[in-house]
Amino acid sequence: MREPILLTPGPLTTSLATKAAMLTDWGSWDSRFNQLTASVCRDLLHIAGGADSHVCVPLQGSGTFAVEAAVANLVPPDGKLLVLVNGAYGKRMAQIAHYLRRDCTVYETADDTPPSAQTVAMLLQDDPAISHVGLIHCETSTGILNPLADIAAVVHAAGCKLIVDAMSSFGALPIDVAALHIDALIASSNKCLEGVPGMGFVIANRNSLLQSRGNSHSLALDLLAQYDYLQSTGQWRFTPPTHVLAALRAALDQYLAKGGQPARLARYAANAALLQQRLCAAGLQLFLPPGLQAPIILTFHAPAHADYQFKAFYEAVREQGFVLYPGKLTSQETFRVGCIGAIDAAEIEQACHAIITTLRQLGWLA
Ligand SMILES: *Cc1c(COP(=O)(O)O)cnc(C)c1O
Repeated sequence: MREPILLTPGPLTTSLATKAAMLTDWGSWDSRFNQLTASVCRDLLHIAGGADSHVCVPLQGSGTFAVEAAVANLVPPDGKLLVLVNGAYGKRMAQIAHYLRRDCTVYETADDTPPSAQTVAMLLQDDPAISHVGLIHCETSTGILNPLADIAAVVHAAGCKLIVDAMSSFGALPIDVAALHIDALIASSNKCLEGVPGMGFVIANRNSLLQSRGNSHSLALDLLAQYDYLQSTGQWRFTPPTHVLAALRAALDQYLAKGGQPARLARYAANAALLQQRLCAAGLQLFLPPGLQAPIILTFHAPAHADYQFKAFYEAVREQGFVLYPGKLTSQETFRVGCIGAIDAAEIEQACHAIITTLRQLGWLA
């Protein structure tokens, strides 16, 4: 039996070379480990287009830790954050601001509706206290792609700063932090870069980060302290996730060797197109209009059958070696299928076959 294929947006299926990179134990003081950290940060910064203007600060923990660290450092205590919400991760960023006691306001649109740049411009004009805007690039709750470039332009024109949660898009969708004047971009090891979970990172504007001294409420999440320590010693401040970093190095080597961002996007787009074609041909329906859907994770309406239960569906598909993802909408019954990870047409074909035959056997699909 092969291992199950994860059709989830991270943790996701990793390659054998990435897994094998975790077979070595690294000393956190060893200069070779410090070089590994430096090389990973250099590559991440380069992928983000921030080599001249930004710095990459790695942080232990899952992606949310890095989002929290970015908000804590970059939004000063007397600043105000406007969060653009159309799903769970936008809500989470607003919740982080509340925990940190940062003044925060929300512009919320429906799960299937991107924020309008025009409305953002109006909100910024009406409230000069707003210093920062928070945007989720691909809102993984549905897979909707939010209009990053349009929002970035109005935020910059208003003299405000933009914090982008690019957790589920970084590495696959093109992003240029310098060209878009992004103050901070946050992502993690375990999504489109196809590493394993355990670290996030913030690509922060160098000047903004250097000016953030004293902002962080938290010792462990103090990004500037992490950056200063890395600069002066080459080391992480506290125990680094050594195996996770080694796996990310291996994952980045494969990423670069195979053509980087354009190639990654092409593979995911092909996965998404095949998934959509097969499942829709069998009678399932996408939740989002295709034009709003990023090729990262697809949300489908559950079959319109009175007896439908995600759990039974999940278990039966899991038996055949594929791990699906539940929907994250409160209003409608949906399920999600990830397009990302070390998978291509072969795994997608097999997964679609498993999904369709299972739903037919359970009597929930004609
Ligand atoms: C995965 C993800 C996160 C981080 O979630 P963790 O569970 O903390 O890793 C944040 N934002 C988005 C958009 C994500 O997809």
